[in-house]
Amino acid sequence: EQARSEAGIVTLDLSQTHVAFDGSALARELPRAIAAGQLFLQYQPKVNVRQEAVTGAEALVRWHHPVRGLILPGEFISAAEDGGEIVGLTLWTLRQVIADQQVMRAHGHDMPVFINISGVLLADDGFVAEACRIVRDSGARIGFEITETAVIRDPESAIRHLQTFAAIGIPLAIDDYGAGLSSLAYLKQLPASELKIDKMFVMQLTSSNRDPLIVRSTIDLAHALEMEVTAEGVETPAALALLSVMGCDMVQGYLISRPIALDAFVRYLDEESYK
Ligand code: C2E
Ligand code: CA
Ligand code: CA
Ligand code: CA
Repeated sequence: EQARSEAGIVTLDLSQTHVAFDGSALARELPRAIAAGQLFLQYQPKVNVRQEAVTGAEALVRWHHPVRGLILPGEFISAAEDGGEIVGLTLWTLRQVIADQQVMRAHGHDMPVFINISGVLLADDGFVAEACRIVRDSGARIGFEITETAVIRDPESAIRHLQTFAAIGIPLAIDDYGAGLSSLAYLKQLPASELKIDKMFVMQLTSSNRDPLIVRSTIDLAHALEMEVTAEGVETPAALALLSVMGCDMVQGYLISRPIALDAFVRYLDEESYK
């Protein structure tokens, strides 16, 4: 992208340009990559703060690219949102989670699995109808993680669609809370049962002066709104201990488990490795 500096000199930021072109080129490859079986999911457990039980799992998409190797979603999700590939990607994710949940159930592990729903999809009537149909037909326990930013863009239609999801029994979690644009006016209107505190507040919890105050007041706010609270990005025993004292309900992070493939996740549950 070209930008004119204050001195009137045209500069070219190559690093930015590279990332932007790269992401949209990758996103355009997604439909073929899905058809070729290059995408796969990893699961990261959410456990209750006492580490007695796994209360759910989050599905995170990964791409085994034939040339570039492992690609994480940060490299292609936002371009896929812009280019429209996010619809097919998310429907693929949904179907894959449903299939994987059958495997978990066959091993005696029954819990909701949450998938990330991009904000743009909350404005897409076709996506919402198809996602509802798939979830209803499957009888699977699927939850959706959504960000508040998604709602702020087009509140009426987003809230209406979220109410549709909630009405058919899809639990909703507000993701990345505190990281983006937040509005308490929307927060109280959302039919969400869970609030996830963004990892940027959790990762510095025991080394910052302010983050503990922010986290504690967010936990209290969520509880006042009758939502359960998950802290993501829990990396240390000290953070876990502090979250426990603050009354946080659930934790997720590298301390508990990194995101892992389905077979490893089933083993993790079999062995009760979270305890
Ligand atoms: P997110 O929903 O906030 O997911 C949490 C991210 O934090 C994941 O990165 C996860 O691997 C990472 N993480 C988990 N625990 C820790 C920890 O203790 N410390 C640190 N430093 N990081 C931790 P990942 O898998 O790279 O995903 C990045 C983002 O991509 C996700 O952020 C989510 O917004 C998006 N994403 C992933 N899968 C999908 C998908 O299927 N559809 C859509 N629309 N977005 C997805
Ligand atoms: Ca998430
Ligand atoms: Ca998050
Ligand atoms: Ca342990």
